[in-house]
Amino acid sequence: MKQITWNLGNLFSGDNDPAMEERRKTVEERSYAFINKWRDRSDYLQDPLILKEAMDEYDAWKRDCGTEGDEGYYFWLRTTQDQNDPDLKAKFNKVEQFSKRIENDIQFFHLRIAKIPQEQRKKFLDCGSLTNYRHYLERIFAESEYLLSEPEEIILNLKTPTSHSNWVRMTSGFLAKEEREVIPEDGKKGMKTFSEILSLMNSRNRRVRDSAARAFNDILSKHADVAETEINSVLANKKVDDELRRIPRPDFTRHISDDIDTEIVDTLLKTVSARFGISSRYYHLKARLLKVKKLKYHERSVEYGNVSKKYSYNESLKLVLKVFRNLDGKFADILDAFIRNGQFDVYPRKGKVSGAFCAHHLISQPTYVLLNHTNRLNDILTLAHELGHGINNELIREKQNAVNFGTPVSTAEVASTFMEDFVLQEILKKAGDELRLSLMMMRLNDEVSTIFRQVACYMFEQELHRVFRQKGYLSKEEIGELFRKHMSAYMGDSVEQSPGSDNWWVHWSHIRSFFYVYSYASGLLISKSLQKSVKEDPRFIGKVKEFLSAGLSDSPRNIFSKLSIDITDQNFWEKGLDEVETLLHETTQLAAGLGKLR
Ligand SMILES: [Zn+2]
Repeated sequence: MKQITWNLGNLFSGDNDPAMEERRKTVEERSYAFINKWRDRSDYLQDPLILKEAMDEYDAWKRDCGTEGDEGYYFWLRTTQDQNDPDLKAKFNKVEQFSKRIENDIQFFHLRIAKIPQEQRKKFLDCGSLTNYRHYLERIFAESEYLLSEPEEIILNLKTPTSHSNWVRMTSGFLAKEEREVIPEDGKKGMKTFSEILSLMNSRNRRVRDSAARAFNDILSKHADVAETEINSVLANKKVDDELRRIPRPDFTRHISDDIDTEIVDTLLKTVSARFGISSRYYHLKARLLKVKKLKYHERSVEYGNVSKKYSYNESLKLVLKVFRNLDGKFADILDAFIRNGQFDVYPRKGKVSGAFCAHHLISQPTYVLLNHTNRLNDILTLAHELGHGINNELIREKQNAVNFGTPVSTAEVASTFMEDFVLQEILKKAGDELRLSLMMMRLNDEVSTIFRQVACYMFEQELHRVFRQKGYLSKEEIGELFRKHMSAYMGDSVEQSPGSDNWWVHWSHIRSFFYVYSYASGLLISKSLQKSVKEDPRFIGKVKEFLSAGLSDSPRNIFSKLSIDITDQNFWEKGLDEVETLLHETTQLAAGLGKLR
């Protein structure tokens, strides 16, 4: 019997583990040992070898405890398992407060590095002993232009929970609490959780999905007023921060923090939006296959054909494991270890966060994967996706130091979509024409959602911030109108902007992290290129592993250039899009050949 909820025993034995207090003390001692040693010195800002000593100590601190030790990670994980337990919330807030104090006191270190004068920087960047920290320093220097003074940074940091995260958590908490009576697949009416309703909206059974969509739209409309206030506060806070920091455009902070050039993102947006014809033709094909004039908004991701085969969690694991083993033994070993160590939370429950994620925090802490497995084919792909992240984490853990443990957002989705595609390939292999058509439609649906929908969402965000800054406040109707405009731009005429769909921003959590979504598009398009190379020559997987191990040790542009991929070139993005268009063409041909388009 496999464990189906997280084994958090590596962190603590339970929510009231008496060891917590002792460990908190250790975090405090370690943190202040570093702070007290370096706070009043300036020699490390002049001598690269002294900076090396400080960096080594900082890295060790970041490896073993950071600002919150295991407690912050533990309670964050626990709150995602039960979003509505006030006791967990209280404990998590307490750790956050504790951690904020240390974060503020230790901030001086990188703030002062940031203030190393321009003409001195080369000396540090060129120093051989600092090689492992070179890119870390480069990034600090790049951000330094937009940093405020130390006390100002402390104030901004202290107000983040009340001006941003608490608002966002409130809306998602309200949504997660909701239950509605809907028609499930078995036809017997019953109460379903928010995340179950989300899943039922993609049902092949029209009655089921329409019933789920009614419930979903009802929930969103119930909370739209709250979300209006929430999003306006979040937008206002972002505007204040940007003005204080003299940020040139709302998405610029995202580019700096993702280590990606604004020009690259603009090229991606321009190239993809110029080819919205692909997504619009895909929906047209889908409407024809489903024999309707137009798809309703919530039907755009409905499965076509017969992919109703159920995949239990165990079958899904087995299949994914096989694909991983074929790609590289290392990938399979990592998954094996995840299973053995109870690093999955598998099934939906009331109060549990919806969707899926793969979490990591300190380099010394285990990865945890959260799923909401409902035995659908999509759930296998989600499993593969999250494990892509997991493999990425484990490979970085082996090769990098603590400050380079992580992935820039711009490439974070390469590993995940890479694994997803290979798992789907495996499923395609054994499929006859009919199933093949269904699977190709499903794959196109994913690609359209990942590339075109996310780019449309990014452009919605751009306009949302821009219009908010002009007007000062946006009603839910105004937000809805903007949202609809951008959604219809990529969907085209074959998808109806149905009543209620203008509220879907209420639930779109990514827009609250600002301009995150381009990374899905960049991730998948880059991943397609890597896949192509692996299919041409399986030994290329060695290079893929090199990329996956690189973490934050260099900029994505440089890491990829070592793999002979130039992500500054518009043609590179066009090539990825060509692949999608080819698949659309093949799918259309297959559908026509099977007499489905008459
Ligand atoms: Zn992901």
